[in-house]
Amino acid sequence: MHAVTTVAEPAELLRRLRPDSVTHIERVPTRAGETVPWPAWVPPRLREAFAARGVTEPWRHQAEAANHAHAGRHVVVATGTASGKSMAYQLPALTAMLEDPRATAIYLAPTKALAADQLRAVAALDIDGVRPACYDGDTPREEREWIRQHSRFVLTNPDMLHHGILPGHASWQTFLRRLRFVVVDECHTYRGVFGSHVAHVLRRLRRAAGRYGRTPVFVLASATSGDPATSAKRLTGLVVEAVTEDASPRGGVTFALWEPPLVHSYEEGGDAAPVRRSALRESADLLADAVTNGVRTLAFVRSRRGAEAVATMARRSLDEAVPGLGARVAAYRGGYLREERRELEAALHSGELLGLASTNALELGVDLVGLDAVVICGWPGTRASLWQQAGRAGRNGHEALAVLVARDDPLDTYLVHHPEALFGRPVEATVLDPSNPYVLAPQLCSAAYEAPLTRADLPLFGPDAAAVLDELVADGILRRRPSGWYWTGEGRPEVDLRGTGGVPVCVVEAATGRLLGTVDPASSHFMVHSGAVYLHQGESYVVDTLDLDDAVALVHREEPEWSTHARDVTSLSVASVRSYVDAGPVGLFFGDVDVTSQVVSYQRRRIGSGEVLGTWPLDLPTRELRTTAVWFTLSPQSLEAAGVEDVPGGLHAAEHAAIGLLPLVATCDRWDIGGISTAAHPDTGAPTVFVYDGHPGGAGFAERAYKIAVSWLQATRDAIDGCACETGCPSCVQSPKCGNGNNPLSKPDAVRVLDVVLTSLPR
Ligand SMILES: [Zn+2]
Ligand SMILES: [Zn+2]
Repeated sequence: MHAVTTVAEPAELLRRLRPDSVTHIERVPTRAGETVPWPAWVPPRLREAFAARGVTEPWRHQAEAANHAHAGRHVVVATGTASGKSMAYQLPALTAMLEDPRATAIYLAPTKALAADQLRAVAALDIDGVRPACYDGDTPREEREWIRQHSRFVLTNPDMLHHGILPGHASWQTFLRRLRFVVVDECHTYRGVFGSHVAHVLRRLRRAAGRYGRTPVFVLASATSGDPATSAKRLTGLVVEAVTEDASPRGGVTFALWEPPLVHSYEEGGDAAPVRRSALRESADLLADAVTNGVRTLAFVRSRRGAEAVATMARRSLDEAVPGLGARVAAYRGGYLREERRELEAALHSGELLGLASTNALELGVDLVGLDAVVICGWPGTRASLWQQAGRAGRNGHEALAVLVARDDPLDTYLVHHPEALFGRPVEATVLDPSNPYVLAPQLCSAAYEAPLTRADLPLFGPDAAAVLDELVADGILRRRPSGWYWTGEGRPEVDLRGTGGVPVCVVEAATGRLLGTVDPASSHFMVHSGAVYLHQGESYVVDTLDLDDAVALVHREEPEWSTHARDVTSLSVASVRSYVDAGPVGLFFGDVDVTSQVVSYQRRRIGSGEVLGTWPLDLPTRELRTTAVWFTLSPQSLEAAGVEDVPGGLHAAEHAAIGLLPLVATCDRWDIGGISTAAHPDTGAPTVFVYDGHPGGAGFAERAYKIAVSWLQATRDAIDGCACETGCPSCVQSPKCGNGNNPLSKPDAVRVLDVVLTSLPR
């Protein structure tokens, strides 16, 4: 084995790298952490239990959140990864249980694994008579009855609450009668349609507890985000205090933002436009440089294929420099056995392995200490993930290095040029829309099944509940009696918490019959059309057939050299305006729209270079979507005065970039939103750009965009203007999912269009 002797300080590495690709260096200082004395109300027994676990005093944010909850105020604690949010609910809940030997609490996690983790933490505190227990789909029947009768701390998930606990509330009455706290962990994961459903599941829990005379206190834990109090209020329907100042200690990190250089794409075989060097290649180079310098480095890549490509490229260039050095880089994928993971940890620990490229699978399950640097290939979607990944670097108080490599995408480009959006106050919010009628209707049916709905229940479900109930009665789904609304169906209402009423498409491996996952109907035409490359937990599959009647896509394992990109044609009509801003030549609107779209073809693009390998036609039916949208109109005169030459191109380019930047203000991904732009829309009579929610009834994304339009459109304008390309590229105005093949597009006119909007809208 080749010995590497020069172990550089990670920050020193930066100086040796290509400095013109670094757009910003942020030194995130070491934070010492601030403890406070235990709140006076915490019983000695509980303090001792924490002391036995090595916790002598709480961090300030832990005590602050616990104080709110103990005083009966609903609270959300929104602080960084590993800041000890669990204590915020453990203190008040376990105190209540020590003081009242009958008090109970319910804890909800988005995953069974997290619930199991928290079970261990609570059990380790060893408080007599709490008898914490997980209650989920894996809990054996014979244990369930015991848990209902004897456990006072039940850990479960929203699905179990919806499918098992609430419909069977009568058998939970002992527990519900004593319910003091409801804990909602990782509550930022309840977003979009799923979040909107969970919001009603929580309302149903409040109603069930209310029937037994309880009004439990809610304690929520969230990743850092913009406006956690508002999100928590939407999720629970309650006024919630927010604790956002993180007082836990943190190691120092030098954070570099990195933008790959523009290259001429003929080098990589595409058409003539300039493109950026791929983030994968840049990450591979960074990994190789780091390994050459003896810096232990982990590269996070979004797909397994990408992770393997990064490892292979890094190995190759290392072997060219020093034969044998390549062996010190490995790729990691999910699904390793326990021993394999331990071997990997040991190899990294001993320095035998210096570089590792991994998918995010590594966020769970492997304990890596002693890393010097982390390379993050592409914006991981949220700040929470960014910090989680960056947090992997740093050992024994050494300064760590993190590098975010921008992909060719408007949001990544914006972020590497606007560090304040990453290191300043967050604006990305978790959005959901419990008033969505496609969510509200099935949830009201579930509530009516659990117990007839009365007039007094209606405020709990929001101002739209009465109208939706009328429709359910008219459709014969509920029956109206003097005493309330009754479920008339046989058995329980069927509700899919992750869908919106449509049947999800099952993705099945043809050879084995194994169900890999489901895709909601709205995205199925895009994601699992025949010929589509479908990624599942980093593994690559190709779709053989999509059967829409049976809602099944049959796939086989294959890792082709290309990715697939579906293309559609879309039209939109305005159904109603809910709210608007009249700003002279500019109008900003939020309302309901009908979108008609058809996926007509797909492209294959070579992985790495993006070269288009060809276009294949598809024969899929049109889809109708009633949803919510945000849109803005501009008068033709204002566009002319601003010097806009190509109106359709300017609007279209602005639309693409606006969609690309929406995740900056609302946590969503590209399947959650769509857009359309036109120089003369029949319903507005003016040049218009629409951005709509991709799910029936809307999931809150368009509404959030409307409410924060100035910040959103300003960021969009800056992203376009700040891009170094001349005529538009995938980093600014081109979109990988454009139904029109990115034509027409005018980058300079997009900036002019947005300038007109921004100077007109009130700040
Ligand atoms: Zn550009
Ligand atoms: Zn387009």
